[in-house]
Amino acid sequence: MTEEFNEIDSTANESGITSGSKETGMFRTKVAASPLFHWGNNRRFNAYSDFLRCRFGTRLQKLSVNAGFSCPNRDGSKGRGGCVFCNNSAFNPSYCEPGKPIRIQLEEGKSFHAWRYRKSLKYIAYFQAFSNTYAPLDVLKARYEEALNVPDVAGIAIGTRPDCVNEEILDYLAKLSERCIVHLEMGIESCYDKSLQWMNRGHDFECARRAFASADERGISTGTHLILGLPSQSREEDLMQAEILSTLPMRTLKLHQLQIIKGTALEKEYTLNPDLFRFFELTEYVDFVIDFLERLSPDICMERFSGEAPPRFQAGPTFGMVRADRVLQMIEKRLEERDTYQGRLYRKNR
Ligand code: SF4
Repeated sequence: MTEEFNEIDSTANESGITSGSKETGMFRTKVAASPLFHWGNNRRFNAYSDFLRCRFGTRLQKLSVNAGFSCPNRDGSKGRGGCVFCNNSAFNPSYCEPGKPIRIQLEEGKSFHAWRYRKSLKYIAYFQAFSNTYAPLDVLKARYEEALNVPDVAGIAIGTRPDCVNEEILDYLAKLSERCIVHLEMGIESCYDKSLQWMNRGHDFECARRAFASADERGISTGTHLILGLPSQSREEDLMQAEILSTLPMRTLKLHQLQIIKGTALEKEYTLNPDLFRFFELTEYVDFVIDFLERLSPDICMERFSGEAPPRFQAGPTFGMVRADRVLQMIEKRLEERDTYQGRLYRKNR
């Protein structure tokens, strides 16, 4: 599985909680001017960037890598044609070319981000394109190790599918986690089998549930992504996924609004049947994400709230020139206005 990355950075937090809230259960500590939520700071959601900074004491910047893997949903072993929304070109940074050695991609990524942010000290190599556990174990080991040997690379994040991990791979990743950061990102996009079928994912939700449980048994950090606004499910079903995901033992979540990417099966479907689709307006999306957050476990760290494929790849309605960091700011401001926070309506073991 693959998608673009845009870290939720705590510097983007423009909110300032100015008074104690009426809720009490979620606060670990309560100070009049600056309440601390369950996750230890005064942001109204549990941000993965804050979690990493707190745990590792520094800002960690992800660097995308295209390690030349394939995908079983494209090469025929699971299916052909891939997921209906997938066009990997739309999400690959320019410095990621599969022909380039991983080491060079990472060095170029470091230069790019050093110029852009000037404050990254450590990096996570993000194996992003296609399914990055889809190869024999010795091949996986060689490619991960090549990344880990690059100076200042403190760990790896591995994008893959839940049906592309097995006990051998998970045992190896558990061992690797003892010496560096390892994060396993298994995209599912929906919690409903009808949608997984509609997207041509080639696996069901039970497969995802088993994969997260197996990784959790070994203490491996995991995450996933969801697409909100699929025509195969209602808004209510979209929202219910916050509760379903909260039952999985995962560390991180990325949310994306539905985007129609050129060159995909989804573009064809949209061209043929535009009336099937109901896209989120930007302000509707912001409020919807907050409704979602309210129902989500406070233990899940949010890594992303919206997608932003480059305009040249877009074939449907978009949020215009509004970038993901601006959507994040709007969500933080709206959380403030609604005086709410992640997990406010979450009930464990519901
Ligand atoms: S699993 Fe789907 S989204 Fe991921 S690379 Fe394969 S076809 Fe694309």
